[in-house]
Amino acid sequence: MSVLVLGGAGYIGSHTVDRLVEAGEDVAVVDNLITGHRQSVNSKARFYEGDVRDKEFMNQVFDQENVEGVIHFAAFSIVPESMQEPLKYFDNNTGGVITLLEVMKDHDVKKIVFSSTAATYGEPKSVPISENADQEPTNPYGASKLMMEQIMHWCDVAYGIKFVALRYFNVAGAKADGSIGEDHHPETHLVPIILEVAAGKRDKLIIYGNDYDTADGTCIRDYVHVMDLADAHILALNYLREGNNSQAFNLGSSTGFSNLEMLQAARKATGQPIPAEMGPRRAGDPSTLVAASQAAREILNWQPQYDDVESIIATAWQWTQTHPNGYED
Ligand code: UDP
Repeated sequence: MSVLVLGGAGYIGSHTVDRLVEAGEDVAVVDNLITGHRQSVNSKARFYEGDVRDKEFMNQVFDQENVEGVIHFAAFSIVPESMQEPLKYFDNNTGGVITLLEVMKDHDVKKIVFSSTAATYGEPKSVPISENADQEPTNPYGASKLMMEQIMHWCDVAYGIKFVALRYFNVAGAKADGSIGEDHHPETHLVPIILEVAAGKRDKLIIYGNDYDTADGTCIRDYVHVMDLADAHILALNYLREGNNSQAFNLGSSTGFSNLEMLQAARKATGQPIPAEMGPRRAGDPSTLVAASQAAREILNWQPQYDDVESIIATAWQWTQTHPNGYED
C-alpha cells in the first residue's frame, strides 16, 4: 500500500518524500507544480501532476494507487500574499481539503497527516504556545488552515477519518548533502532572503518592524530544521497506524529568536557581512510565535536533531551556495 503525498514537490513535501523513501515506504506524489519543483521529488516516488481541487484527477489517482494514508502539504503559505488575496487561500487551502476528504471518504482512506501552522494561533496570550491555546488567526493564511483543522474534526466525527494536524512554527534549512532545498519564486521568507543577501543576490535585508513588544523590538519566531519536520510526519503517520485518536501537535524548538538575532546567526554561519536596515511592519505578522512542543516529543517521540539556528542556517547556506538559482541549476 502506498503513502500518498500531496504537495510532495514543495519545500517541506520534497524533504518528507525523501525521508519516506529512505524509510522504505512505497510513496506516490501529487503536485500541480505551481510552486513545487519536479526535480525535487525523489526518483523512487511515483509522480502525478495535477491539482488537489480537481476531483476527477484525484479519483483517478486514488483508483490507481492503493492508498493507505495521506500526507497533505499542498497549500499556499505566504502570509503577506494571503492579506492581499484571501480568496486564493480559502479556495486552494480550505477548498482543496474538502475535495481531498471527499475522495478519501469515497475510497475508504482513513488516515491523514496535514500541515497546519502556528499562524492559526494569531497573537498569543502567553508564550510558549501550547496546543490548547486560543486560535484567533491574524491573517487569511492562518484562518484558511484553522478551517482545515475544523473540517478535519467533523470528518473524523462523521466518517472516522483520523488526522494529525502538525502546527509548524518556522521552517528552515535543507537536506545536509545539499541535494534538495528551499526554492520559492518570489522568495518571502526570512532565512532564504538573508542568505540571498549573503550570496550577493540582494543588496540588503529589510527587517519588517522594530517597534514590537519584544526585547529588541523585532518579531520573534521559533525555527525548526526541515529534516526534523519531515521526520515528524513519519512519526505522525505511524501514530495513526497504531490506531490513535486525531490530535494536533506543535512542531517547534521551544526557543525563540528575534529577526535581529537571526541576522547575527546568519552572519556567523556564512562569514558574510549581510547588510540590513529597518523597515515598516509587515501586515498580518504576530509579534512572537514560540511553541510548546512537549506533546510531539512525548507522544510522537519526536527528537529533533538540529538544536541551534546557526547549524540550521548552515545547511540552508550549503544549498544556496551550490544552487544559486535554486532548481534551475
Ligand atoms: N521578515 C523580515 N524581512 C524579510 C522577510 C521576513 O523582517 O525580508 C520577518 C517577518 O516580518 C517575520 C519573520 O521575518 O517577522 C519571519 O517571516 P517569514 O516570512 O520567514 O515567516 P512567517 O513567520 O511569516 O511564517
